[in-house]
Amino acid sequence: MANTLEVDNRRDAGAPVLPAAYDETNAPACHGANPRIFFPAHEVPLGEREIREAKNICSRCPVREDCLALAIQSGETDGVWGGTTPAERRSIRLQLRRFNGTKNLVEALARGHEEHVRPVDRPAVVVQLLQLGWDVRQVAKALSITPFDVAGARAQGAQILVYRRLLQRRYPEGWE
Ligand code: SF4
Repeated sequence: MANTLEVDNRRDAGAPVLPAAYDETNAPACHGANPRIFFPAHEVPLGEREIREAKNICSRCPVREDCLALAIQSGETDGVWGGTTPAERRSIRLQLRRFNGTKNLVEALARGHEEHVRPVDRPAVVVQLLQLGWDVRQVAKALSITPFDVAGARAQGAQILVYRRLLQRRYPEGWE
């Protein structure tokens, strides 16, 4: 079954819409909900209460992952999608860009070069080095940080990996 959420349909309608590919068993949880919980009216930002309500609905949505992947991949700037606000998606996209932007740096470190790693890049670099089989002490030494810092960066970086896997699964042909 194709499972496409149509960005334009959703935005134009000012509300989440039920795409034809979904049926009653896996319909988006927002179908029939007040659209203004999800989309701002006349460019007025969503309030905390609306965001809370929207996220609550998204939390029980069977197509949440598809919805989030679509919003991240398409750079959706409005509304709550997949349980995220525009600011949260901006942050996710930034983290994903950092991950991609640090590949050369990670390769250089893996070759034994001394490299300066900015604190903002640490989560992406740490998870990539750990993926290469480095242990925490090696990473700490290479980045001149403590094992405690490595653990913190690893926790942040783990979330980036979750988003990367989600996008790779949803867009195997490429999403960057
Ligand atoms: S994740 Fe949220 S916004 Fe997306 S389809 Fe489901 S309920 Fe609607």
